[in-house]
Amino acid sequence: MRKVSILGATGSIGQNTIDLIRRNQDAYDVVALTGASNIAQLAKDAMALRADLAVTADAARLDELRDALRGSDVEAAAGETALIDAAARPADWIMSAIVGAAGLAPGMEALKHGTTLALANKESLVCAGSLLLKTAAAHKATILPVDSEHSAIFQALQGEDIRTVERIIITASGGAFRDWPVEDLAHATLEQAQSHPNWDMGQRITIDSATLFNKAMEVIETREFFQVTPEQIEVLIHPQSLVHALVGFRDGGMMAHVGPHDMRHAIGYALHHPTRADLPVDRLDLAAIGRLEFRDPDDARWPALRLAREAMAAGGMTGAVFNAAKETALDGFIAGAIAFPEMADIVAQTLTDMSGHSGLIGDTMTLDNVAKVDHLARKAAQAAVEKRAG
Ligand code: NDP
Ligand code: MG
Repeated sequence: MRKVSILGATGSIGQNTIDLIRRNQDAYDVVALTGASNIAQLAKDAMALRADLAVTADAARLDELRDALRGSDVEAAAGETALIDAAARPADWIMSAIVGAAGLAPGMEALKHGTTLALANKESLVCAGSLLLKTAAAHKATILPVDSEHSAIFQALQGEDIRTVERIIITASGGAFRDWPVEDLAHATLEQAQSHPNWDMGQRITIDSATLFNKAMEVIETREFFQVTPEQIEVLIHPQSLVHALVGFRDGGMMAHVGPHDMRHAIGYALHHPTRADLPVDRLDLAAIGRLEFRDPDDARWPALRLAREAMAAGGMTGAVFNAAKETALDGFIAGAIAFPEMADIVAQTLTDMSGHSGLIGDTMTLDNVAKVDHLARKAAQAAVEKRAG
């Protein structure tokens, strides 16, 4: 039996992972499941999967978790240290699906134990890509991408030599406001921003799809994971969201990955790698779909892509600044403090404000230094949000 753990088990990726595991439960020995606020779901899944351990990130909710697990053999724990302990429990395969920079430390811990880390938490690569890759190499751990575009690139690269790659194109649906007049974006509501035309995902990543900050993060993620240059990475708007990525080789050929909008494909690929398994995802009827469209993203609607390029050019730990500013701006929009287009303004402002800390940003990348940069950038971004909120 394969020992598996799921960090962020109660979220959208976590629940899709659990779905795949439950369909073939005899093959898996579930070690740890973690969540944060959704105690009922966490306890229910931990008991159904007979996990050894259930952890909530919220230290104040340990008693509630214990109550929910009463009568079962599942051990309960809570808080940030417990989360790290869960990631340290020996497992063959660990899903990293916590949302935000909070996923970095548990993912790093898992790598230190030489596991195979299925990485959905893109923020860890954006904030600390080189540290993550170095840690994986030092401990003979494997990272498998779960983000659909990166799984697509990874699949297109099987059997290929990365040195023959000329370009990598990742696609974006364009999100909720793809076809809105740009001047109307200032009036976009939270309700409108959190409905995605094609994918069913968590609230934060859905709004990030509308600003294209999700794609901006994925450009940085591509650079970090596949070690290509920023100039080699392109983004295309592709409203059908069926071609997830294309890899262009030096001989002019391109490999495109086509698949349904169902994260269980990418999760299942990482779960069964290096083999392919039968997965419960829809088979595409291309004749019924009829056509696949592609177009260039425009800067006035989606400044996030340009900001990601600025962050990559600045180097060092600017990825952590970018992510922290983006997360804080998103909190500001969700709270109603700033308008939809102001999220990009906050990130641009924070990148400028943080350039005064170039010593720290250019320092050695360690978890502590990334946390320091993250903290300062959140403070700067929060100040910018409050200034705009008045
Ligand atoms: P969700 O918001 O649906 O789930 C997030 C998970 O993280 C939940 O289990 C949540 O617990 C937990 N969590 C929240 N805050 C904390 C914290 N501070 N510490 C520890 N755990 C916490 O997110 P998604 O599943 O959509 O996304 C997860 C990651 O995968 C993100 O990095 C996202 O960018 C990436 N991703 C997601 C895709 C998707 O289709 N959803 C596609 C590609 C990448 P609880 O719910 O109990 O509060
Ligand atoms: Mg993606």
